[in-house]
Amino acid sequence: MVEKKEKVKTKIIDGKKMAAAIEKKLQAEIQTFERKPQMAVILVGDNPASLIYVNHKKKAAEKVGIDVAIYHLSPVMTQDALISFVEELNRNEGVDGIIVQLPLPKHFDENAVINAISPAKDIDGLNYINMGKLFIGQPSLVPCTPLACMALIKSVSRNLVGKTAVVVGRSRLVGKPMVQLLLNEQCTVTQAHSKTKHLSDVCKNADIIVSATGCAGLIRKKFVKKGAILIDVGIVRTASKKITGDIAYEEMLGHAKAITPVPGGVGPMTVAMLLSNVVKAYRDANVLLPRI
Ligand code: NAD
Repeated sequence: MVEKKEKVKTKIIDGKKMAAAIEKKLQAEIQTFERKPQMAVILVGDNPASLIYVNHKKKAAEKVGIDVAIYHLSPVMTQDALISFVEELNRNEGVDGIIVQLPLPKHFDENAVINAISPAKDIDGLNYINMGKLFIGQPSLVPCTPLACMALIKSVSRNLVGKTAVVVGRSRLVGKPMVQLLLNEQCTVTQAHSKTKHLSDVCKNADIIVSATGCAGLIRKKFVKKGAILIDVGIVRTASKKITGDIAYEEMLGHAKAITPVPGGVGPMTVAMLLSNVVKAYRDANVLLPRI
C-alpha cells in the first residue's frame, strides 16, 4: 500500500506551560493547609549534577509554598547510619516527603536505602511497596517522570483504552513504571530496551511512543506511524552543548500527531509531578492522621 503524502498538523506539547498551570493550582491548595508541607532531600557526597538537581527542586518547591530541608551528608558515613537517618525522617511528623538523591556513592546499596523510606513519604515512588502497588493497580505514590509522561499523553488523547504503546527503556525510574501506567490505562504495551532487535519494526505500529534511553535521535521518522503521539524523556547534551532528546524532533513535524520538545516537555512536568506528590503525601497523611 502506498502511504498517503498528506501532512499531519503536529501539536507541540508545551510541558512548561502545563507545569506552570499545575504549580499554580498546587500553590493555591497549599494556602488552604494548616501548615506548609515539607520535603526532605538527602544528598550524600558532592556529585555536581546532583547538587544542581537538588537546588532546582528546592527552588521549584519553595515557589509553590513547600518547605525544603536539604541534608547534605558525608560520603564516608556507613550504610547503617544512612538508613538510621532515613528512619528518623520517617518518624518526624513535620516531614511529608523524603527524597534520597541518586546516584549514591558506590559503597551504598541504593535499593536498601530507598526501601527504608516510609512508603507514605516516598515522593519519588521508587520504594518497592509503591512500585508493587503500581504493578497491581492500587493507588500509590508513582515515580514523577512516568506521571509526567502520562499527563502529557492525556493532554492530547483522553481515552487511551486499546491504544498500542511502545516504551523504549526499562529503567526503574522511567521505563518500568511507564509500562504499568499505560497498562493501567488499558493500552497494549511493548517494552523495548538496549537488547531489542529491529527497534523500528517494534515501534512502527504504535499509537504512542515513550522513549527514555538517552540516545540522541534514536527514534527516526521511519520508526513512527503517521499520527502517533511521541513523548521524549531523553536528555542528551551534544558536543555543541545543545540539549536534545531521543527523538529526531524535526523529522516528526508534519508526521506525528503530537510531540514533546526537549527541553520544555517532560522535564518541567517531572518537577511539577514531584511537587504534586509532596502535596499528595501531605493530604493523605492529614486525612488518615489529623494533626490537632
Ligand atoms: P537508564 O540509563 O537507567 O536507562 C536507559 C534505558 O535505555 C535502559 O533500559 C536501556 O536498556 C535503554 N536503551 C539504551 N540504549 C538503547 C537503544 N539503543 N535502544 C533501545 N533501548 C536502549 O536511564 P533513565 O534513568 O531511564 O533515563 C533515560 C533518559 O531519560 C536519560 O537521558 C535521562 O537523562 C532522561 N531522564 C529525563 C528525565 C526528565 O525529567 N526529563 C527524568 C529521568 C530521566
